[in-house]
Amino acid sequence: MPRLLVIGLDCAPPSLVFDRFAEAMPFVSKLRSEGSFGVLRSTAPPITMPAWASMATGRDPGELGIYGFRNRDEGYGLRIATAKDLPYKRVWDHLGEAGFKVAPLFVPPTYPVPAVRGVSIGCFLTPEDSPKFAFPPRFQRELEERFGPHRPDVMNFRADDPDAVRDELFSSTKERFEILRYVLETHRPDLTFFVEMGTDRLHHAFFHNFFEDHPRFDPEGAYREIGREYYAFIDREIETTVMGLGDEKVDLLIVSDHGARPMLSGIAVNELLRERGYLHLKRTPEGPVAFADAEIDWSRTRAFSEGGYYARVFLNIKGREPEGIVHDRDVPPLLDELERLFLALPDENGAPMKTIVHRPEAVYRRTRGRAPDLMVYLDNLNRRSLGKLGLGGIHHANDDRGPDACNHDWDGIYIANGPNLPKGMRERRSILDIFPTILELFAVEPPSDLIGKSFISE
Ligand SMILES: [Zn+2]
Repeated sequence: MPRLLVIGLDCAPPSLVFDRFAEAMPFVSKLRSEGSFGVLRSTAPPITMPAWASMATGRDPGELGIYGFRNRDEGYGLRIATAKDLPYKRVWDHLGEAGFKVAPLFVPPTYPVPAVRGVSIGCFLTPEDSPKFAFPPRFQRELEERFGPHRPDVMNFRADDPDAVRDELFSSTKERFEILRYVLETHRPDLTFFVEMGTDRLHHAFFHNFFEDHPRFDPEGAYREIGREYYAFIDREIETTVMGLGDEKVDLLIVSDHGARPMLSGIAVNELLRERGYLHLKRTPEGPVAFADAEIDWSRTRAFSEGGYYARVFLNIKGREPEGIVHDRDVPPLLDELERLFLALPDENGAPMKTIVHRPEAVYRRTRGRAPDLMVYLDNLNRRSLGKLGLGGIHHANDDRGPDACNHDWDGIYIANGPNLPKGMRERRSILDIFPTILELFAVEPPSDLIGKSFISE
């Protein structure tokens, strides 16, 4: 009977794992040279929540209706998506129904923590004071006795004290790998699906410190080796985990949900819409205010946007938005106008950017929930979208939530190594290919309308 261990490294890009830090990761490099590896193309958008959810369901963000960390609510606001928003069964549900023992550990979004045929641990979105972070309750008690309180993330990774962030990064990653090894040894799942968030947190906090091509890189900086050290540490944790499995032939998949690239600046999208007459305020704020707190004059506002790794642009459509004013017949020309506006927007020096604008209906087969009217990847993800108003100007050096060195990128990674997985494959694959690959490994019939293709049968 097959046994599969999936190790997810959130935000790990090919440029680091396959190239820059390949020598610092001898165990992982050996796994990939003896097995298969390549680029794993992320979802559109390449954001943690839709990306892991797509990997675990084989469904794209349009089918899932999850377009970012947060989704539009019934009004003009956004709320954080949770596992309850997923309309499809996940790979561990399919395997559980087929009689296999499963263990999803820290996989976003697993809050509320899922009931599974085996054990599960909630992801980084589990509130710190949540009384339920693992399933079943007796497994949670085991974890509390052995490892103390739930620590699904690098807490305070945007904090000002880099030494504290570094210490928490290494110690919390170590603890999660210890929990992984504990589950593998004591619960012996057939499918273990584990996600480590530390790689993502490393990038957001320290990318400019260790990535030589980052415009803020300082070759004399105190943290210039932290990237290499952390990836080397991850390599040793993976080696210890795999070695702990002994002589048993376990299939191994190492994957990431998206990549990483330097974040060059932030663009105040609502300020841009206001400046060009698409968005109006009842009162000009005296300083920066969140979009939700700004006094928007909806009776004159035709378009608004949200901050994040990409800009979601919504029209204020009559009959759809609570105080909508744009008539259906005016929607297509307005979308064309806004698309031209974003495509033509230059950078802070007046140079052209590589902005990409997607129409959801062109990217997805179906759109559930409230898809954005336009999905705008500013300078192809080199810049982030700032949703605040009152920022004064369009171009800003920093994230409006504090310093952030990294934006997400389209290309993640896969490494496949094991008796039932292909060897020597080097081509680009899609994040949607992981779900059918796992089902085929366990000889579970996949749904008939999947976009992704299994690694095994191809
Ligand atoms: Zn992520």
